[in-house]
Amino acid sequence: MQLYNTLTRKIEEVEPIDPPKVTVYTCGPTVYDYAHVGHWFNYVRMDTLIRALLSQGLKPNWVMNVTDVGHLVSDADEGEDKLQKGARREGKTAWEIADFYTKDFLDGMKALNMLKPGHIVKATDHIADQIALIKRLEAKGFTYVIDDGVYYDTHKFRHYADFAQLDLDDQQITERIKPNPQKRRPEDFALWKFSPKGEQRDMEWDSPWGKGFPGWHIECSAMSMKYLGETLDIHTGGIDHIPVHHTNEIAQSEAATGKAFAHYWMHSNHVTVDGRKISKSLGNGISLQEIIAKGFSPEALRLYVLESHYRSHSIFSWNGLQAAQNRLNDLRAMAALRWQPRQVTHDSTTFALEEVSGVITALLADDLNTPQTLAFLSQVSTQLLAVHIEKDMVDHLEIMLKAIDGLLGLRLSMVKDISPKQKALLHQREAARTKQDWKLSDKIRDQLKFQGIGLNDAAHGVIWYPLWLSYKPDHQ
Ligand SMILES: [Zn+2]
Repeated sequence: MQLYNTLTRKIEEVEPIDPPKVTVYTCGPTVYDYAHVGHWFNYVRMDTLIRALLSQGLKPNWVMNVTDVGHLVSDADEGEDKLQKGARREGKTAWEIADFYTKDFLDGMKALNMLKPGHIVKATDHIADQIALIKRLEAKGFTYVIDDGVYYDTHKFRHYADFAQLDLDDQQITERIKPNPQKRRPEDFALWKFSPKGEQRDMEWDSPWGKGFPGWHIECSAMSMKYLGETLDIHTGGIDHIPVHHTNEIAQSEAATGKAFAHYWMHSNHVTVDGRKISKSLGNGISLQEIIAKGFSPEALRLYVLESHYRSHSIFSWNGLQAAQNRLNDLRAMAALRWQPRQVTHDSTTFALEEVSGVITALLADDLNTPQTLAFLSQVSTQLLAVHIEKDMVDHLEIMLKAIDGLLGLRLSMVKDISPKQKALLHQREAARTKQDWKLSDKIRDQLKFQGIGLNDAAHGVIWYPLWLSYKPDHQ
C-alpha cells in the first residue's frame, strides 16, 4: 500500500517493521469541549487508513490518546490549561470536564462507525510513564529547569528543525512564539510545568522536580512507546501538528532512545467551514450532535469526509453535506435492492458485483484515494438502480455490501427489509399512480417518509430505501 510520508515528502510503499503487524499511533482529542466537524474529518480519515491497512491483510495495532491534561491554550507553553479553562467555563472540575467530553468523543466515534483502537489511552493514566521519560531525557542532558517548569533544550537535538523544515532563524516564528525570557531558545518546550505558587489545581501530581503537570507533547511519546515500542510504523495526526507537536514528539523520543520514532507520518489537511477557519469566536465549530439534530445521518458525514482526499484542503458546508446525504440515499437504495429483486430483460452493468470491493481496495491502497472510490461507488449504484438486480444476484449483492462496509464503514449492509404493512402501502401507491391519483400517491409518499422510508422513482419502477437506520451502535 502506498502512502504519502510527511517525513520524506514522498509517496512510499508502506513496509511495516514486523508484518503482518503494523503499529499506528494517532494523536487524539483534547477533551475540553465537543469535537467539531474539523476533528471528525481528521478521525474518519485515520479510521479509513486502518481499514485500508486491514484490506491489505495487515494487522494494525492502533493506539489513540486522549489529552485530558496539560494542553495549554498556546503552543508556547503559556496560558491556561485547556481542561482547566473548560472547567472554569462550566463550573465543574477538570476531572468532570475530561470525563464528560471523553465519553462524548467515544460516542461520536461509535456513531460514525469508526473502528475501535486497540488502546485508547488517557494522559492522566500515564503520569508515571511521562515522568520516567523526562528522567531519561534529563539523564542524557536534554533538559533544564526554569521558574515555571522543566524544559526540553531543542538546541541539543541536532535534527530539531528537519521534520517540519523549520527555519529557526526566521524572526516571524520567533515573534509568534513570544519567548519566555528564561527559555534558552524560543522553540524549547515544557516537559513538566509547575503548579503556579499559591494556586490549587484540579489536576496536579508530585514529580522529582516539584508538584505540577506534564507538558502536552510528552504524553504521546511516552504512551506510544509504552504500547507500541520505541519505533512506530505509522504516526498520524492533523497537519497543524507538524511544526510544533510532532516536531517535539520526535525530538523527545529520538533523544531518549537514539532510534527513529516513526517510519511514516500521515497528516490530515485542514477543514474550513464555508471557507472560514473553524474557531470558537466564529461560532462555526459544528458538532456531530448539531448535524444529527438537523436530520442528517452520521453515515452522511462519513461519506462527506471520504469525498475529499485527506491531503487536500477540505470545505464543510451544509449544502455539501446535503449532497452527501443524497449520495448516501442512493447507496442505501442500492443496498435495499436485496429486498426488491426484479426480472431484468435488458441492459447490464459494466462491472461484476464480485469485482467491486477489489476495485475499492486498490483505490484505497493508492494513498487512500477516497474521492475516486466514491466516484466509482456512485457509478455502481447508478447502474444497479437503473438495471435492477435479479434474484440470483442477491447473495452477491449482500457479499459486496459487507465488503464495502468493511472498507468504508458506511453501514450499507445494515439496511433491512420493510414491514408487510409498509409493503402494502407501496402497492397502494403504485395503484394510485396507475390511476393518476397524484394526491393519494403523494399522501402515501409522505406517510412512508414519516416512517423513515424514502422512495426513488427509478427506470424499472419505484425503489424504497431507509432514510435512517435503526441499530444500536455496538462497539465491537
Ligand atoms: Zn500527539
